Amino acid sequence: MFEKILIANRGEIALRILRACRQMGIKVVTVHSEADVDAKYVKLSDESVCIGPAPSNQSYLNIPAIISAAEVTDAQAIHPGYGFLSENADFAEQVEKSGFTFIGPKSETIRLMGDKVSAKEAMIKAGIPVVPGSDGELSDDPDEIIKTAKKVGYPVIIKAAGGGGGRGMRVVHSEASLLNAVSMTKNEAHSFFGNAAVYMEKYLEKPRHIEYQVLADNHKNAIHLFERDCSMQRRHQKVIEEAPAPGLPDKLRKKMGDRCADACRKIGYRGAGTFEFLYENGEFYFIEMNTRIQVEHPVTEMITGVDLIQEQIRIAAGEKLSYRQKDIAINGHAIECRINAEDPFTFIPSPGLINRFHVPGGPGIRVDTHVYGGYRVPSHYDSMIGKLVAHGDTREKAAAKLQMALSEMYCEGIKINIDLHRDLLIDLAFLKGGPSIHYLEEKLGMKK
Ligand code: ADP
Repeated sequence: MFEKILIANRGEIALRILRACRQMGIKVVTVHSEADVDAKYVKLSDESVCIGPAPSNQSYLNIPAIISAAEVTDAQAIHPGYGFLSENADFAEQVEKSGFTFIGPKSETIRLMGDKVSAKEAMIKAGIPVVPGSDGELSDDPDEIIKTAKKVGYPVIIKAAGGGGGRGMRVVHSEASLLNAVSMTKNEAHSFFGNAAVYMEKYLEKPRHIEYQVLADNHKNAIHLFERDCSMQRRHQKVIEEAPAPGLPDKLRKKMGDRCADACRKIGYRGAGTFEFLYENGEFYFIEMNTRIQVEHPVTEMITGVDLIQEQIRIAAGEKLSYRQKDIAINGHAIECRINAEDPFTFIPSPGLINRFHVPGGPGIRVDTHVYGGYRVPSHYDSMIGKLVAHGDTREKAAAKLQMALSEMYCEGIKINIDLHRDLLIDLAFLKGGPSIHYLEEKLGMKK
């Protein structure tokens, strides 16, 4: 096992990884920007290194600075967390070339899954159902594009092969706007992602977002840890996540999980990963794979009892998976609210000094956050400051606990989005279970 791990991230996930390392007796090096010098996890770590000024392109995205920090502190492995460099194949490659272990998949796998066209092709080969669409990249020939759209059937969605974060996508309802939409998406794709390649998919009208958590080791073992429903989204960003997905038939749940685990073996996957699907009329359609730990991993941890971060570390150290598929069972239900430093209804970010901060507690309540009274939320980064998760024997009990926990949560100094979550936790469609990915925006009155 490693003696020392460097955490190449910030915020609540840096604290979460630090705690996993501590429980395993591993020393922790944190890196931080000038804006994060006072962060709790920086104080709690064994060593920390300032890697640059506040803007992330000069600090958390600065590959040479992070690798030098690992060198000067003699860390053996680097955990990338989520966001920042976590899905950057060049980073993974440079970490390994510099003699450190990257806690994640091989760089080739990250590269393969980072290009959505090649990811889809790999999934088709591995027996995973995908959204019907163009055969790979869309051609430049207008006649071909029109033919493809006719075959797929309107509405279609044009998506950037190198896209991410909900950007580089355009829905087309009829042939009249097709060619223009393709060329606009290509231009955007080129300027945002440096790759003009786009592909076409059938646009699903009322899907749910259901994703499967997997773990795979270097010894050809792979398991799934069931699914999460992340359909409550705003601007393609998840707001509430839960596990398991309400109303999913048990047989289908297991069948899809087994297929994902099988796909991991077929593509030689290593580490923790997530297969993201759209789910409509009883069918799953793959959209992308995330080759890292996800924000919403705690709901899976709460229903399975598996510490996903510790497993990531064991796998990276070359150990075999600690679990076999038959050891993984669903125990109860868990729901997570993302806590953002923003106005609950205008969504305008609200960074600044937190004067007082009280978090809820009690059986089945988990709060993952690095903030506290006296902490200043920097304006340079994502507005998510933590997650509030409730676990209950049933979905109803988990929701009731979460409602109570939200009423205990108190923050003075900045705005956080508690009131939005309180509204959603009494929303009848949410309580019934299974609204589509468009439900939240429709409810908020911002239907596109
Ligand atoms: P990103 O990597 O930018 O998150 P995804 O491919 O995961 O892109 O898609 C993000 C979101 O866009 C999905 O969760 C869904 O809301 C919407 N979306 C993507 N593809 C489709 C599709 N074929 N039909 C309907 N909605 C889609």
